[in-house]
Amino acid sequence: MPATVKVMKRPVRQSSYIRATLKGMALTFRHMVKAAGDRSEATIQYPEVKKQLSPRWRGTHVMETHDDGRPKCVACGLCPTICPANCIKLVPGEDDQGNRYPIVYEIDEFRCIFCGMCQEVCPVEAIHVGNHYENAEYTRNNFVYDLNRLMKQEHPVTMLWDPADPAGE
Ligand code: SF4
Ligand code: SF4
Repeated sequence: MPATVKVMKRPVRQSSYIRATLKGMALTFRHMVKAAGDRSEATIQYPEVKKQLSPRWRGTHVMETHDDGRPKCVACGLCPTICPANCIKLVPGEDDQGNRYPIVYEIDEFRCIFCGMCQEVCPVEAIHVGNHYENAEYTRNNFVYDLNRLMKQEHPVTMLWDPADPAGE
């Protein structure tokens, strides 16, 4: 479907900021009253109670492993190339049989914008964004997940977008 562009007219009169502020506050107040009337929707007792995430919610990464504990990554270099935030560090290696593997694989979860392109592009389904958001840290360095840390993540991985089911229903 072609994109449509809506052209907004600039106001010709000087607008009153007081009126705009009051309108905004009235809207906030209406939502406040609405939320108070339906507490089950507005408030949950986090962290004891958590809302279920969409299966397509994108959060902390997971590196899949083989049965023998090796990472599934074959160090092809696609994910650091496609990453728009430039937050994946890969140093590739190769064993005697010519099998490639990551010597260093790191993701800076602080810089990541959770676009999911690393998951989409991975030819061996090794790296995934995951259904997880509780990854707060006290220092920036702690947001850099190395290979071992990525392999230890146990939360479910994010479902990829399916063109046959665009709304994910
Ligand atoms: S989710 Fe996007 S920004 Fe984050 S590491 Fe993957 S490709 Fe980069
Ligand atoms: S795209 Fe997959 S196989 Fe390639 S470097 Fe990234 S994680 Fe490894």
